[in-house]
Amino acid sequence: MTATQTTPTRAAGRIICTSWCQDGDGHAAAVLAADQWCWGPAVRIELPPYRFPLTDPHTPGAIEDDTLDVFAARFPQDAGGFKHVVMLHHVALDDEIRLTRSQARELAANLLMAAAELPAEESPR
Ligand SMILES: [Zn+2]
Repeated sequence: MTATQTTPTRAAGRIICTSWCQDGDGHAAAVLAADQWCWGPAVRIELPPYRFPLTDPHTPGAIEDDTLDVFAARFPQDAGGFKHVVMLHHVALDDEIRLTRSQARELAANLLMAAAELPAEESPR
């Protein structure tokens, strides 16, 4: 089987943003269509400091203030239309998890169940 190379689609002017998009101007400055994604206001959760692995060539052992940003997002699809997700952005790792609506609700329910097992006075750090 041969992999098919696709050429990124260039943005063709402004898009119509979601009502909750923090950009809100139609992403007119985006070069690629894939960059015309809408993001909602983030809820920021402070995390314990993150220690990068010692094998990380860029920041060995560095500890930074760390946060998890949670927000809604909408991404254009190559085939047309959009995909809506709940985004979990781990800032120190600059990595993300994209959840569908049902996955986000399932995660939230399971977080609540796990949190219920913790003592009420326990500090998050
Ligand atoms: Zn937008």
